[in-house]
Amino acid sequence: MAFVCAVCGSTELEIFALGGLRRGACRACLHEQRIDIETFDYTGFARGSTGAGTARIADQAAFLARHMPPGARVLEIGCAAGLLARALRPIVATERYEGLELSPARAEATLHLDKVYDTTLPALQAQGIIPEQGYDMVISSHCLEHIADINTEIAGIRTILAHGGLLFVEVPNRSGNPGLPYDDNRAHLHFFSVSSLVRLLGRHGLDVKALETGAWHDARYPDCIRAIARPAGPLPATRYSLSEHPLLLGIDEVIVWGAGRMVDEILAHYFDPARIAFFVDKDERKHGTQCMGREVRPVDALHNYPGCTILINSLEYEDAIKGQIDSAFPGVQAKIITMSDVLGAA
Ligand SMILES: [Zn+2]
Repeated sequence: MAFVCAVCGSTELEIFALGGLRRGACRACLHEQRIDIETFDYTGFARGSTGAGTARIADQAAFLARHMPPGARVLEIGCAAGLLARALRPIVATERYEGLELSPARAEATLHLDKVYDTTLPALQAQGIIPEQGYDMVISSHCLEHIADINTEIAGIRTILAHGGLLFVEVPNRSGNPGLPYDDNRAHLHFFSVSSLVRLLGRHGLDVKALETGAWHDARYPDCIRAIARPAGPLPATRYSLSEHPLLLGIDEVIVWGAGRMVDEILAHYFDPARIAFFVDKDERKHGTQCMGREVRPVDALHNYPGCTILINSLEYEDAIKGQIDSAFPGVQAKIITMSDVLGAA
C-alpha cells in the first residue's frame, strides 16, 4: 500500500516506526505524519499547564496584535481555557471573539470569550452554525498537529474567512525541540516543517504574509512556527495605491522628476496618471516624448511652477536630485515627495 503525503501528495514517503507506531516522512516537503494512530480522548483530557505560561501567552498576543485589524470578528479553534483571548482583548479591540474547545477547559474559556463551541469546525460547518466568510481573524494555535484531516480543516477555515481576513497558525517546528529529533506525543498526528506548513496553506488558497520560527511554547516545545496567512489574490483598491498615499492628500497634481525605468515598472501600475502634470528629466533625448500620456520636459520648466509638488522618481539619485532642486530652483519653493516616501507605506 502506498502512503500519500497529506500536504504535497508525494507517494515517496520514508516509512519508519517509533514506539511501535509507523509514520511517514515526506522528502519533497519535509512533512511527517503518523500512519498508526492511537485514539486520544479529548473530552476526558485534563488540561495541563503547558503553553499557558504568562510570558509565552503575552508573546503570542503581541505577535498577533502586530497583524490583527482592530474590530475583528475572531474565531479561535482550540481556545483551551481562553488565556490568549484574555491577553489579546485588552490590546486589540475585537467586535466578537468566539472559540471552540473539546476539552473541559471550555468551562473556563467561557469567562474570556463571547461564545465557546464544544465541537469541531467541520461539524459546526455541517450544522450551518458557523457562517461562511464570517470571521476577520481565525486563530489555530497548537491545534493543527492534533487533527487527522488537515486538508478538510484548512479548507473549512478558508471558507469562513472574510474578504481580507487572516489566519494565524502556530505548530511545533518539526519535533519542536532541536535537542529531541522526534516528537512522540501520541496526540500529535502531523509534524510540520516551514515548507510543509506554507505548502498546505498555499494548496488551499492562503498566502503566508508573515512567518517566524523559534517561538517558545514550553520546555518540551521551545521551537514553534508562527504564520499569518490570508486568502491569495490582490486586495481591493490597490490600483492606485501610490497616488493615494496620505502624503499626496489634497495635492491635485505632481511634477515627476525622472522619466526612467521606474515609470514603466512601478508608476504605470500604481500611480494615477491624472495626478501627474508632466515629467521633467535631464536627458535631452527624452524631451518632447510621452510618459504615461504626459509630456517629458527639460528640468528648467520647473521655474514656471512656483509652489508645485515634485515627486522624485529615483531611489538611487534621490539625495542628488533633492540637492539639485535646492540649489538650482530655490525660487520654486517646491514641496518634495520621494518614491521612498510613497513606497514606504504602500
Ligand atoms: Zn510532502
